[in-house]
Amino acid sequence: GAGLLALSLTATACGQEAVGGSRYKPKEKGGTIGIAMPTKSSERWITDGRNVAKQFQAAGYKTDLQFGEDDVRTQVAQLENMITKGHRLLVIAPINGGALNDVLKQAHDANIPVISYDRLLLGTPNVDYYATFDNEKVGRLQGQYIVNKLGLAKGRKGPFSIELFAGSSDDNNTRYFYNGAMSVLKPYMDKGELIVRSKQTSLNQLYTEKWSGSAAQDRMEDLLNKSYSTEDVDAVLSPYDGMSIGILSALKSAGYGTKAKPFPVVTGQDAELASVKSITRGQQTQTIYKDLRKLAKATVQIAKAELTGGKAPINDTKSYDNGKKIVPTYLLNPVSIDKSNTQVLVDQGYYTASQLK
Ligand code: BGC
Repeated sequence: GAGLLALSLTATACGQEAVGGSRYKPKEKGGTIGIAMPTKSSERWITDGRNVAKQFQAAGYKTDLQFGEDDVRTQVAQLENMITKGHRLLVIAPINGGALNDVLKQAHDANIPVISYDRLLLGTPNVDYYATFDNEKVGRLQGQYIVNKLGLAKGRKGPFSIELFAGSSDDNNTRYFYNGAMSVLKPYMDKGELIVRSKQTSLNQLYTEKWSGSAAQDRMEDLLNKSYSTEDVDAVLSPYDGMSIGILSALKSAGYGTKAKPFPVVTGQDAELASVKSITRGQQTQTIYKDLRKLAKATVQIAKAELTGGKAPINDTKSYDNGKKIVPTYLLNPVSIDKSNTQVLVDQGYYTASQLK
C-alpha cells in the first residue's frame, strides 16, 4: 500500500540524486554492483555470475546478480530495477545486444556507468567499456582446428565434407565467430577441398537462435537426411558446446560413432564440463577454453578504476565499434582444447581431475 509506494519513491529519488552515483564521487568506495547475465540454461553464464559477484564482493562491493532467462523483457525489467535502486555500476551480458538502448539511456541519466560483459551492447553511446575474449580468434581457432585435423593444412587433398553452424542472430559475437572461422575455411571451400553439401554457407542460413542445443540437433538431423544419405560428413563447425552436444546426438541417431562410421570433427566453445567429458570419450573433438575467472577479474578492475578515479585496464581501442562509438575494450586470449591437452584445465584449476572422469 502507501508504505510500499513511499519506499519505492524514496528509492527512485535516491537513484536520481545519484547524479550522485559513481561519476560525481570518484573516490568513494563500496555500494552495489548490478550484474545482469543472460541465462542459466548454459553452465558458462552461471559460472560467470558466480565469479563476477565473488570478485566484486572481495573488492568490497555488494552485488545484485540477475539472470534474464533468455528473455529480453525480463532483462530490461531487471536493469530498470537496478537503476531504480541506485546501483553504482552495471555489468551487462545482453541477451539481445541491440535491445537495451532505452534502459541504458536511463542508466546514463542516473550517472551509472555500464560495462558490456562478453557480448557487446550495440547502437548506443551509453556503454563505457567492454570486457571480452578475442571473438574473431575464437572462430579462427575453430576453423584452424578443422583444417589441421583433416590434414588439409599439411597438404592432404580433399575433398572433405563439412557443415557449418552459427550462433544466435541477436548476439554480436556470432558474426565474429563466423567470420573468424570462415577466414580459415573459405579458401579450402573455394578450392573445392571442403564441400558444404547442403550449400548452406551464408551467415543468415546458419543462425541458431538463443544458441539452442535442440535447434542445432534438429538442423543437423535435417542436414544428414537431406544431404548425407550416401556420403558421410567429415567435419561440423559448431560455435558453442551446448550446440555441439545436440549435433552429436543427431550424429549418433544417424549411426555415427562406430569404427566404420566415425564421428566427424566437431568443434565447440566454452569448455563446458559435459563437452570436456565428451572430448575425453572421443565424441566432441575440440572446444575453446575461455578462462572466465580472468574475464571477471578484468571486469572488476575496470569497474574499480571507473568508480575510484583510476585508469581502467584497456588493451584494444579499435576492434569494437558498436555503431555509435568504438567501445574501449579489454580483450582476453581464448585457448583451443582437444583430447591432447584437457590437462590444461586441471593444471589451471578450472576443473578438478575427478570432475573430468
Ligand atoms: C559467448 C560464448 C557462448 C555463447 C552462447 C556467446 O556470446 O561469447 O562463449 O558460447 O554466447 O552462450
